[in-house]
Amino acid sequence: MNILQGILWLVTSMGVGTVIRVEHLKKYFPITHGFIRKKIIWLKAVDDVSFEIKDGETFGLVGESGSGKSTTGRTILRLYEPTGGKVYFNDIEVTALSKQELKELRPKMQIIYQDPYSSLNPRLTIFDIIAEPLREYGHENVEDTVLELLEAVGLSEEHAKKYPDEISGGQCQRVAIARALALNPEFLVLDEPTSALDVSVQAQVLNLLGRLQKERNLTYLFISHDLGVVRYLADRVGVMYLGKLVEIGTIEQVFDNPAHPYTRMLLSSIPVPDPKARAIRKEKVIGEIPSPLHPPSGCRFHTRCPYAREICRKEEPAMIELEKGHFVRCHFVGELQ
Ligand code: SF4
Repeated sequence: MNILQGILWLVTSMGVGTVIRVEHLKKYFPITHGFIRKKIIWLKAVDDVSFEIKDGETFGLVGESGSGKSTTGRTILRLYEPTGGKVYFNDIEVTALSKQELKELRPKMQIIYQDPYSSLNPRLTIFDIIAEPLREYGHENVEDTVLELLEAVGLSEEHAKKYPDEISGGQCQRVAIARALALNPEFLVLDEPTSALDVSVQAQVLNLLGRLQKERNLTYLFISHDLGVVRYLADRVGVMYLGKLVEIGTIEQVFDNPAHPYTRMLLSSIPVPDPKARAIRKEKVIGEIPSPLHPPSGCRFHTRCPYAREICRKEEPAMIELEKGHFVRCHFVGELQ
């Protein structure tokens, strides 16, 4: 047992409740221009984002395209190196690990991407795709483990001999899930895992993810622009706008009592069967999300907010706790009915 494994064992055996803690995370991309690639501007894709995910919980991250959801997920895993801030996995500071330590931790933190076809190597059989991480980490009984994983995701031995282009999109996503589970992870980033699939297949994959979470005590960061799907799968949710979290709460707090005008705007675009909820969600969708290269001053939402006043253009609002666990970033939180 190496040092990192020792710490992991100690922390896990202590029954710590928080699996992921994100503190003031930032990811800025330099935008370069011209022959000598002179940096001209920073794209602040993730800008001071903080939240926690508890053991066995699903935390949904929602927002329009360009809000920074996927970049947040990838930066937590250090697939992108953060510009600032800290990420903890079971109290291990992921952002402080060396490359070798990160490789040792990698089996515990995995990602499933949106497009199953492009995330799987087309030249490998399904068996080899799932076996690859097992071999890389020196796992024994590779064949038995691959067959167990195929069964766990609803596929059979027959699928093992095929190539990705010989199976359906839904089956490809099951293979991607089996591969992600191969090294017994505790935490999975699910980056729009069903949005490239047919509607009929989406529900099957969501049910599979829900079942696997219970069976294997997995903790999920579920990234999606589809609020209906997030409501179905998540326990708590964070709403992102132009690189900032603007509202965090339980599914009930955010969906039944949305406090930020942007959250209300997002919710107004999905069909709501509950008449009480329909009465709450009255904001119309106004305009387009501005370019993250030139985010508005003050509150980044002020160019689209029907309640914007002078202070909103000048000062960035702080995150305020409206009720226990329900946080909102707005100068006039509680005053907006
Ligand atoms: Fe709207 Fe101002 Fe609140 Fe931003 S701070 S959401 S602009 S009212």
